[in-house]
Amino acid sequence: MQKQELVSKFAAYAPHVDTALLDKAYDYSIHAHGQQERASGEHYFVHCDAVAQSLIEWKMDLPTICAGLLHDVLEDTSVSEETLRGEFGEEITKMVAGVTKLDHLQFDSRDDAQAENWRKMLLATAQDIRVIVIKLADRLHNMKTLNYLKPEKQKRIAFETVSLYAPLAHRLGMFQLKSQLDDLAFMYLEPEAYADLNKKVSAQLATREVTLAHFKEAVEKALGDTAIPHRILARSKSLYSIYMKMQRQDKPFEEIQDALGVRIITDTVANCYALLGIVHTQFKPVAGSFTDYISIPKMNLYRSLHTTVMGPGGELVEIQIRTEEMHRTAEYGIAAHWRYKTGESQRDAHLEEKLNWLRQWIEWLQDLKSPREFLDSLKTDLDLHQVFVFTPAGEVKALPAGATPLDFAFSVHTEIGMACVGAQVNNKMVKLDYELKSGDICKILTKKGSVPKKDWLNFVKTARARSKIRHYLREQGIVA
Ligand code: MN
Repeated sequence: MQKQELVSKFAAYAPHVDTALLDKAYDYSIHAHGQQERASGEHYFVHCDAVAQSLIEWKMDLPTICAGLLHDVLEDTSVSEETLRGEFGEEITKMVAGVTKLDHLQFDSRDDAQAENWRKMLLATAQDIRVIVIKLADRLHNMKTLNYLKPEKQKRIAFETVSLYAPLAHRLGMFQLKSQLDDLAFMYLEPEAYADLNKKVSAQLATREVTLAHFKEAVEKALGDTAIPHRILARSKSLYSIYMKMQRQDKPFEEIQDALGVRIITDTVANCYALLGIVHTQFKPVAGSFTDYISIPKMNLYRSLHTTVMGPGGELVEIQIRTEEMHRTAEYGIAAHWRYKTGESQRDAHLEEKLNWLRQWIEWLQDLKSPREFLDSLKTDLDLHQVFVFTPAGEVKALPAGATPLDFAFSVHTEIGMACVGAQVNNKMVKLDYELKSGDICKILTKKGSVPKKDWLNFVKTARARSKIRHYLREQGIVA
């Protein structure tokens, strides 16, 4: 994109911000990358420009977009960190350094290098969340241009995308990006399944549109002359999510119960509930399908009302009801919090608090010394297949699938984990490596003076438990 076009796209949502630095970063990046080319044969700057464009699409602030333009300068050109700091200051330089990979020569294996690069990047993210947002924009463009690489490399990068980057985007609430990354990766990992499913979903599109039209019509009629502002959108599901559902249920596409997804977007929270009332009076809700993520938001900031009803023609319709603001957060996640309001950079006052879990989690991960253990924990913790387990007092803990009573104990309190000697699940004694299920009520038995055992490391799932146990064992000289 031409510089003027890029600058004016930014100015469109941040009209009062001085764009001189953006101007400078643009020219600086072109110059620094000189005659370098991408695997596609294009000028290298095309990639930097694409990253900046994504960041602008997500309406990020000026320093982030500058860092996006400059993100490969330290890794791929002769410009030093010191020089960059002199030109662009500490804030931007820190972000660029955060997305810069470590020198490959330092490592024995590719796995070690991958783990250490993730560790470094997450550490930078704990200090400044914008680092991961730049890294995700970088990965998105790399995935879009993956066809220029060798097949073996394509598969490796696609696998890393689907197992680490997409789940991370999901955790950060960047749902639109997560779907994009998933589908791009799916295309390279399983090209035949992708092509086949793509064809079938496209063929289904026409019928879906008819169903949607009928549903819209019925809702409009039910709303009558109530003055509730609303717009109704069809929700397209990623091919990868449909594919995962087929795998989970072990069924072909034709037998998958895949309801039409619809979103109703309105202005206020009160109107969300008013619309829910209207929908439920008009269509029969499916028992147990209603979830209120407005009063109980998800950890990734997501808020909406969810319900499934029998549509006008008897087909199932999955409905999400939300305000415009919730909609932006649902699409862009944490990125939505850097949006410019009334022309000024104004970060969400609660964002820091909301993202504490991220910092805490990164801290536990940093404790894991072996690269393999680090990567495994990272993947497990990012896996969204969670189980919800209750304390005897009725408090709920979200744990990764496969979590044990020990993981639960450590999630309640470190002291309880350390002194754990046994566990009861639903009033029955279980072994400490028991696999917890959603809805289990877990009671931890402790004994004063009891200490962690080395074999616990063989079955705990969460980074938190693993890091606490390891820390103790290391102090005692039991493990290295
Ligand atoms: Mn890059």
